[in-house]
Parts: sequence; structure tokens; C-alpha cells
Amino acid sequence: MNNKFNLIQTNAVLEYESIKPYHKIISRPIAADIVRETLNKLREELKNNDNLHYSKEDIIKLCEKKIKEKANLPIKRVINATGTIMHTNLGRSPIDAEIWDSAKELNTKSNNIEYNINKQTRGKRGEFLHTLLSKLTGAEDALVVNNNAAAVFLILKTFANNKEVIVSRGEQVQIGGGFRIPDILREANAKLVEIGTTNIVDIKDYTDAITENTAMVLKVHTSNFKIRGFVKSPSLKKLREIIPNNIPLVYDEGAGIFDENISEEEHIKSALKGGADLVCFSGDKIFSSVQAGIIVGKKEYISNIYKHPLMRAFRCGKTVLSILEKNVIKRLNTEGKFKGYSETLLRIKPEIIKQKALKIIEGIEGFEVIEESIETGGGAMPDTFYPSYAISFKPKNIKSIINYMHSIDIPIIPKVKKDSVIIYPITINDEDIDYVRNILIKIKNI
Ligand SMILES: *Cc1c(COP(=O)(O)O)cnc(C)c1O
Repeated sequence: MNNKFNLIQTNAVLEYESIKPYHKIISRPIAADIVRETLNKLREELKNNDNLHYSKEDIIKLCEKKIKEKANLPIKRVINATGTIMHTNLGRSPIDAEIWDSAKELNTKSNNIEYNINKQTRGKRGEFLHTLLSKLTGAEDALVVNNNAAAVFLILKTFANNKEVIVSRGEQVQIGGGFRIPDILREANAKLVEIGTTNIVDIKDYTDAITENTAMVLKVHTSNFKIRGFVKSPSLKKLREIIPNNIPLVYDEGAGIFDENISEEEHIKSALKGGADLVCFSGDKIFSSVQAGIIVGKKEYISNIYKHPLMRAFRCGKTVLSILEKNVIKRLNTEGKFKGYSETLLRIKPEIIKQKALKIIEGIEGFEVIEESIETGGGAMPDTFYPSYAISFKPKNIKSIINYMHSIDIPIIPKVKKDSVIIYPITINDEDIDYVRNILIKIKNI
């Protein structure tokens, strides 16, 4: 056999100094697959072309390039510079680092997640968290499941299986990829009773629709869009007054907003006070904790949901429950001072963000600080923009700059607007300022 086909052993490539660090990132067997595939392809090429020759260095470089691409697939750190505070593609709300640390031992060692130490018997999973959430929201009881989509589904399944659910046409929304209210209703075997129009629904629409078959009235926060102009829908308080007491009024709030000043819509506490029997929201949107679906409200209803056989399929594990518990305790102990990630960032004065932007570009030519508004994202406050500042520059070759920003150790994800790259400092941590600054210096020379 011709010598040139004996390229190099897969194992030898894998043990190469530049390749070895990737074992930790993508695993050795996956790296081995890439090397084998690459070597096979090269052998094919050599077979078809007598004049070709590959040096050992060429081969290593090629393998490294392919492995490096694969190394971007595992969950890795990125810097969110998109101007969208909780970007669903970038992990929504980061978890408070202090809370993460305090939950570490509970997760890396055994714990009492389902063991009652006082009674020395099996305990109820999440029981104390439910007490904490009730305290925080003023609800009678609470329940936690894997995410808010699961919360909505489980509520429907518990109360509306084969029965009617009244939903306004303006609230039959799609949130993110694949969560559509009418589809969820169908999957839960609930019969959708549509009322009102896209922009207007009034009390009479609700009273007319309520029959002996009505199992539930569902209000959904239109998390990712806003209709402006001639828009009307009754408050939860008004609704509660006209709905018979035995029919639950459920509000899918979505975002998990506790600070009522943040927007004039109804949020968790006001919804409960106003008369919603159950309110559900995500754990990792404005609430700024882990992915979870939190249901708060009437004890009797919560207990029905808890007893549903599907509850077992939607229950959370120790990681979620322990972090949520710490989060709620921190919120309770700081009497509203500790807000989540988004609420904290939104409170920073734009002038401070401007100073941060100026600090990042100080002495680097070609960049400027401009006024640019930001949004919360993650399906929280649609079409609401907050004044802020951003770094802007117009590169000669925008594509190569964007590629470079994605190819570095910790990718920086910017926003592209026409021929400008926009970097929003609001979500850049202070300890990352030097890193971003150094990248901008390099970019200048591309
Ligand atoms: C985000 C959202 C959901 C889905 O919540 P997940 O936590 O993503 O499952 C459902 N309803 C509303 C109103 C939302 O905003």
C-alpha cells in the first residue's frame, strides 16, 4: 500500500497537545469519531488525486478545526450583549451566584427532599418551598412543576378534562417555539370556548359563555406581543365577581413579576388579590431563578392538582427545588430589596450604563457610544423598551467580525443593525469589561 495512505493513527491525533483539552469539552469518543471521519475523508481524496499530499501538521490542523466547531455545541458560557436582558436562547435569567453556591452541598450530598426528619417518615417533596411561596405571594398554597407550560397543562388536565374552558380570542397566544394555548387545551382534552374578538372582550362575553359545562375561565398574559389602540378586557376582579364561585379563575401570568411598578398590568400579587384562584408563572423569567413552573392560589385547587397522577411526571428534582427554596428565602429576607436579575438591571440608571460603555471603549478608535433602548425579552414585557446605551461600530466586513466574536473563548453575542454591530453593556458583568475591551481592540485590527 502506498505510504501516503498511512496518514496517522487516530490515537496519536487524540493525544496531540492541541487536541487533548477537547476531551473534557466534548468527550474523547466524540473527538475520536471526528478524527476517524476526517482521516477517512482524506484517504478518499488521496485515492482520487495522485498529486495530493498532506503533512502531519495539515492533518492535525484539520482535525482541530472540526473538533473546535463541535466544542461550541455543549452548553458553554457566552456574553450576552444583545440588549435583550433575558434571552431565551441564552439561558433566560442567570441564577444568583450566591444562591447557586448555597445549594451546592444539598445537591452533591444526600438530602431530605422527601424525608421528614421530625417524624422520621417519608416526607412531602417541596412542602417547605410551598410554604415559602405562599408567604411570598400571599396565596393559600403553592405547587412547583418543571416549567410553566407544564403548569398550564396540569391545571387544565386537573380541572377541565372533557369540559369547557373559556378563553378570550385575544389571549389565544403562542409563546416561543411550540407553546400554543389552543394546542395545550386540546392536548389536555379541554374544550376551548372562544369569546370576544382579538382586541375586545367584555364582561358580557364571559357571562354569556358560562354554562353548567364550564370548568374553568383562563386568562393568559400576552407575553410576547402587545395590541395597541382600541383594546379592552375586564380585570380579574371584575371577572371574579361574575363567575360562579365553584368555577376556578386561572391566570397564566408567565413572567413572574412581583414589582408592580415595572408595568401597569396585573401581576402575581395583584392577580391573587384581585380574585384569581390560581396564578402560574415561570421560574426563570423575571422571577430569575431556575426553570420551573410555579402555581400559587387556593388550597383546595392546589391540592387537587397535587393529587393528579400526572403530577409525578412533572415533579421537579432536588436541584430545582433547592435553588428555588434559597431564592424565595432571599427574597423574603430582603423585604423586596432583592429583586431578580432583570428587575435589578432595569433599575440601573442609563447614565451608569453609559459610563460602563465608555469605559469599555476608552482609547479605542472606531467605536462610539450611542443611545439604544433595551428590552426584557424571554416573554415578559412585550414591546416595552427601556432607555439605555450601547457601543456601536461599522466594520468593513460585518460578517467576519460577527464570526470572530462567535469564535473566541467566551463568545460575545451582539446585535446587528443594518451595517452596524451593536454591543449592549447592560448585561456585561463588571469582571468581563477587560475581556470585552481586549476583544474590541483585536476587532479593530481585523
Ligand atoms: C413563558 C410563558 C409560558 C411558558 O413558560 P415556560 O416556563 O417557558 O414553560 C406560558 N405562558 C405564558 C404567559 C408565558 O409567558
